[in-house]
Amino acid sequence: AKVTGSGKVVHYTGHMRADADRAVTLGAELQGAVERDELVLRFQPIWPVGASTPDGLEVLVRWNHPTLGLLGPDRFVAVAERTGTIGAIGHWVLREAVSQLAAWRTELGPAADELHVAVNLSVRQLQDPTLVDEVAAMLGDAGVPADRLYLEVTESLLVREGDRAGATLHRLRELGVTLSIDDFGTGYSSLATLQRLPVQQLKIDRSFVLGLGDDPSRLPFVRAIVGLADALDLDVVAEGVESDADLQAVAALGCAHAQGFGLGRPVPARDVPALLTQRVPA
Ligand code: C2E
Ligand code: CA
Ligand code: CA
Ligand code: CA
Repeated sequence: AKVTGSGKVVHYTGHMRADADRAVTLGAELQGAVERDELVLRFQPIWPVGASTPDGLEVLVRWNHPTLGLLGPDRFVAVAERTGTIGAIGHWVLREAVSQLAAWRTELGPAADELHVAVNLSVRQLQDPTLVDEVAAMLGDAGVPADRLYLEVTESLLVREGDRAGATLHRLRELGVTLSIDDFGTGYSSLATLQRLPVQQLKIDRSFVLGLGDDPSRLPFVRAIVGLADALDLDVVAEGVESDADLQAVAALGCAHAQGFGLGRPVPARDVPALLTQRVPA
């Protein structure tokens, strides 16, 4: 049994023990996953509200585990954070995303001119003094303009690391990279955080957006975030748009961008060109 911070005693069940063992095993197996080529990327479209093609793709990592199959980030990113493997994984994801974007730019020409990729950054990457030079080198090698790379940092990470990560974020911004605050509305950032850090976009956490069309009590929260973004001249993305009603609600509130299963699930790279060149039925 273990006493938690709140003084509550938690008895480990066999189940929890098995989960812990599995996490340790996964952590060890994750060590060579990049070298063994076991990681794959999915790309989820981000749409200007009302547009017929997306202008961004969020890059989402998966682990093609030899026996367990395709694992989502919720199964291994936290483990990778704890063991440090997230450094190698994050590096691979960035390089792969940037070179994939370069390939689409060559293949699709004007249809991909305005396209950006949005990569999630972990806390370890933000603390890594070599990150900025690595990003600059990746963009240079691939010939991708810096403003076509968006980096997403969660609001809670910014609140915890904002002071230490501030210099890195400013250097990334000087490079021309676009910075986005992920899961906005869940991390208690202050207006001072927004004023201090060079961010260009807020992504409204999906807990505020999911079911918005059917639950008017959430409207004021989204309206307030959109108002804040407008006042600060920041772009805003509503995450977790699952239904037409959700989409209509975020459109009526003036969200510039939307993302969610209702607009497009994460897809493999080979499915992206069709998203950019086919007109979706209105
Ligand atoms: P996130 O950054 O908030 O990414 C969005 C997650 O929400 C994705 O799950 C996506 O599939 C899911 N999603 C998108 N639209 C909807 C919707 O309409 N409804 C619902 N219920 N879910 C939706 P995924 O791919 O499982 O990623 C989970 C989290 O893992 C991400 O949350 C992100 O924090 C983390 N992650 C993913 N890829 C990376 C990575 O390369 N590096 C790091 N550090 N973290 C990553
Ligand atoms: Ca994200
Ligand atoms: Ca590094
Ligand atoms: Ca998010």
